[in-house]
Amino acid sequence: MVSQQVRGVVARGKGQPVSIETIVIPDPGPGEAVVKIQACGVCHTDLHYREGGINDDFPFLLGHEAAGVVESVGEGVTGVAPGDYVILNWRAVCGNCRSCLKGKPQYCFSTFNATQKMTLTDGTVLSPALGIGAFAEKTLVAAGQCTKVDPAAPATAAGLLGCGVMAGIGAAINTGGVSRGDSVAVFGCGGVGDAAIAGARLAGAQTIVAVDLDDRKLAWAKEFGATHTVNASTTDPVEFIKSVTGGNGADVCIEAVGHPGVYRQAFEARDLAGTVVLVGVPRPDMTIELPFIEVFGRGGALKSSWYGDCLPTRDFPMLINLYLQGRLDLDRFVSETIGLDDVEEAFHKMERGEVLRSVVVL
Ligand SMILES: [Zn+2]
Ligand SMILES: [Zn+2]
Repeated sequence: MVSQQVRGVVARGKGQPVSIETIVIPDPGPGEAVVKIQACGVCHTDLHYREGGINDDFPFLLGHEAAGVVESVGEGVTGVAPGDYVILNWRAVCGNCRSCLKGKPQYCFSTFNATQKMTLTDGTVLSPALGIGAFAEKTLVAAGQCTKVDPAAPATAAGLLGCGVMAGIGAAINTGGVSRGDSVAVFGCGGVGDAAIAGARLAGAQTIVAVDLDDRKLAWAKEFGATHTVNASTTDPVEFIKSVTGGNGADVCIEAVGHPGVYRQAFEARDLAGTVVLVGVPRPDMTIELPFIEVFGRGGALKSSWYGDCLPTRDFPMLINLYLQGRLDLDRFVSETIGLDDVEEAFHKMERGEVLRSVVVL
């Protein structure tokens, strides 16, 4: 066996509906693993790839929020073995870049992906989304992209930690440093924002304000642990957040939209010496304008959170254990389970704001 063929979801061109194609998966080479996918969540980033918003390296093999079982490993792989239950990550740290060498592997500047390429049957090279490509029965990754977790957690829930939910939880806990007794405001209550709310609750925040324009999303936010909700289309969220924090503003404001106006609100709703965390992804053409004296005068920190500043080997097994103990409700993020054929429709539901996560089950 030198390669095998499986079904996968491919974006062939900018804005074109995705299609199911036959994917050729090479046997794993040195440092690589082939993983049999059990579940993969539909993330906004998959849609951004299809829209040409990430780069122009079509065709893309989409999907990157996944859990499954290692089928085979290449030469020299010692971290995982066939049969291991894993969550796939897009931060397989190198151990050698300047950030890793400073003891901060969560900021690794040189993460690993598989060296060999997956292709269509005519030899066309595929670009796997975030170096993963998991809307497929199997995928080829770098072995370091496989993080072992307790197999008692179902793949529908576990896979979510591979991207959006980890980004949100990490924005609160890792980047924002939310701790017991803090007040937190979360702007934008989709999957990432709700995960930030769940993370803030896990960390012991006593006040968690959810801000959105959609009452349905605010209802979801309450289920994840928001203590207050505010619809910014009818109420000034900055004034509201101040009113429920003794007139001061929140210790940590998390912007999960990626919009200059919303960022400005997060900036203004923050207490003195507080922290703003940007986890929403702005468009490349956006700019922000802030009163410079306030940036100085309010002190604190304006931070950005990439993938929740997570370290998969540290965070995935820990969060899965908290899930299994009933302290982190990952199942609540799963709005529906679907098949590979339903990814295009799931994109539309996501655009209409009808779902937190559609999860492909294989
Ligand atoms: Zn590194
Ligand atoms: Zn994602």
